[in-house]
Amino acid sequence: MVAKRFRCVECNKDANELHRDYSNGILKITICGSCQKPVDKYIEYDPVIILIDAILCKTQAFRHILFNTTLNIHWKLCVFCLLCEAYLRWSQLQGSEQSNDPADIIRYTKEWDFYGMFGLAALELGAFSVGVLSFLWLVQWLLGFDFELSLLLKALLLSSYGKVLLIPAVIWEHDYSPLCFSLIKLFVLTSNSQAIRGTLNNSSISVAILPLVNHI
Ligand SMILES: [Zn+2]
Repeated sequence: MVAKRFRCVECNKDANELHRDYSNGILKITICGSCQKPVDKYIEYDPVIILIDAILCKTQAFRHILFNTTLNIHWKLCVFCLLCEAYLRWSQLQGSEQSNDPADIIRYTKEWDFYGMFGLAALELGAFSVGVLSFLWLVQWLLGFDFELSLLLKALLLSSYGKVLLIPAVIWEHDYSPLCFSLIKLFVLTSNSQAIRGTLNNSSISVAILPLVNHI
């Protein structure tokens, strides 16, 4: 059986284990041979602390989630985020078509509009993901560094979790809603950048291409 490869959350180097279990019940966190820091300090942390660090866009937290856990909810999370975005667009569409005619109330039952918005959001996410991955593949081809496309896609999808904030922003609508939507988009882009940075092996390359990724 092939041992699962982990990654050091600090320097992104491969590691064979996160901790060593001694026979007398004592656990000892493995120290990274490259940076001399614990391979994954988060194995001792409460999930709430890990979530807070992920919200703070720390690359170490993204590396822990992506490489050192068995969390495999990125596709479900992706569908949920698309539903949130579709709901935002659908609510804005309904708002723009508002009329005093009582007969127009039936517009709110037009669920096909919602499905259309869902399809549009999915297309945009697909185009964004293909654009980012194509760009990184081109950089890989030019500069000759390695990365896994599937891991990058997982990082992109997981780090888009901020889109769930669109739902409360729509429900508690107020004068500052457009500003909230812009801030949520900025937060999602920042999370995407940090997750990609945490996934790439070469930190200097990731720092160089991050501003470009943000503009795709
Ligand atoms: Zn290390």
